[in-house]
Amino acid sequence: MPINVTPVPTLDERINDIRLRTARIVNEDILPNESRLWGRPAGGDGDGAGPAEREVLREQIREKVRAAGLWAPHLPAEYGGMGLDFLAHAYMNEVLAYAVGAASLFGVVAPNSGNQTILVKYGTEEQKRRWLLPLVEGTMQSGFSMTEPENAGSDPRSLTTRAVRQGDEWVINGHKWFTSNGKAADFFIVMCRAEDPSGELGRPGQMVQIIVPTDAPGLTVVRGIGVWGRSDSDHCEVTYEDVRVPVANTLGQVGDGHRAAQDRLGAGRIFHCMNSIGQMWRAFDLMVERTLTRQVHGGLLKDKQFVQGFIADSYMDIQAARLMTIDAAQKVDRGAPQARTDISSIKVFVPAAYERVVDRAIQVWGAAGVSSDLPLSGMYLGARTLRLADGPDEVHRILIAKNVLRRYESGESWAFG
Ligand SMILES: Cc1cc2nc3c(=O)[nH]c(=O)nc-3n(C[C@H](O)[C@H](O)[C@H](O)COP(=O)(O)OP(=O)(O)OC[C@H]3O[C@@H](n4cnc5c(N)ncnc54)[C@H](O)[C@@H]3O)c2cc1C
Repeated sequence: MPINVTPVPTLDERINDIRLRTARIVNEDILPNESRLWGRPAGGDGDGAGPAEREVLREQIREKVRAAGLWAPHLPAEYGGMGLDFLAHAYMNEVLAYAVGAASLFGVVAPNSGNQTILVKYGTEEQKRRWLLPLVEGTMQSGFSMTEPENAGSDPRSLTTRAVRQGDEWVINGHKWFTSNGKAADFFIVMCRAEDPSGELGRPGQMVQIIVPTDAPGLTVVRGIGVWGRSDSDHCEVTYEDVRVPVANTLGQVGDGHRAAQDRLGAGRIFHCMNSIGQMWRAFDLMVERTLTRQVHGGLLKDKQFVQGFIADSYMDIQAARLMTIDAAQKVDRGAPQARTDISSIKVFVPAAYERVVDRAIQVWGAAGVSSDLPLSGMYLGARTLRLADGPDEVHRILIAKNVLRRYESGESWAFG
């Protein structure tokens, strides 16, 4: 079933036009070809193509996306992107997320897209030439290496990977894991604790992000960590043993590390939420469509009240998640100080709502719901993973409560609008 996108009356003509043109490509070129594009059967038809044919088809769609001016919505025009503001990008994301994997055909591939965004913001001209442009052109791949097995990823202050300055070089030692895209990456952006005995580059122990080529001696991609019952993945364990890179590979200033990570994650959380909404929308369409045709116990599923409850609850979940996310994106666009609280709110609420909607869709489809013939099982695992990636639920709940309590402790109350 195609995504049913109509112009949003409160949006300007340009954003509506982007959404409608994105939907046209999703509906005409991507959804009917999902099984050939990604090599897995969709709808049980099993017409999976070989890897070469898949890549040809993907490139044809990428060409169409470029020709339509819809390539790389997250990048400024000078780097070949659409130069969209935040809200427009968020609105486009929900449409392209309807088709699983479509974002990559629009030039948005995590973690490259997040790395591109921080290279645009913090990179020197030389770093942009050397690392950003090849990433945009697709001739290089990258990863973001922050989380460590021995320390709590939900508390970045606990990170222990060290970068010690020796002359014009950083010497990096540390142990990371869940560095996504680790096998394909040509470079990682590595979060380190800096030690510069000269004192030139900030106070000891401050956080810094450093660009590290993956072929640097001492860097080892130990393994792809198996996730969700699979024995392998591209989320990698990486060790850094006396890895030397030039000080010129410092991204921004020593001490910028946390801020740069927050810049990346704050925007990323809104995009993840809009992605989740696009996928909830797809799961909802699949669920409702099924209820119209599936006969059980002498009647259609659509006439059973349990199932009508699923439809109503899912409708409310999607509406609530979508409106909260759009509101958060608008606040980020306006630079509203409350935006951090709202980003944390959607980061907790939306993946949970996504999980509930997909769970109901799976239930309605029965055994087919957990089969690989439908995208639902992949969505379910994705929704569950999102509740801990990019900051687990508890950390965001703590932040929301802290911000609210601070207001009341200072004698004010919360202004919801
Ligand atoms: C598929 C996937 C891809 C990922 N990709 C990347 C990547 O590319 N780069 C990267 O650097 N990292 C990546 N990560 C790591 C991810 O960001 C971390 O897993 C996440 O930040 C949580 O850190 P942790 O796993 O160390 O959990 P911990 O910090 O050990 O937390 C464990 C649990 O403790 C609970 N908890 C934490 N704090 C509190 C508190 N204050 N009060 C109560 N309970 C609390 C939460 O329930 C939390 O889930 C990825 C993870 C996954 C699953």
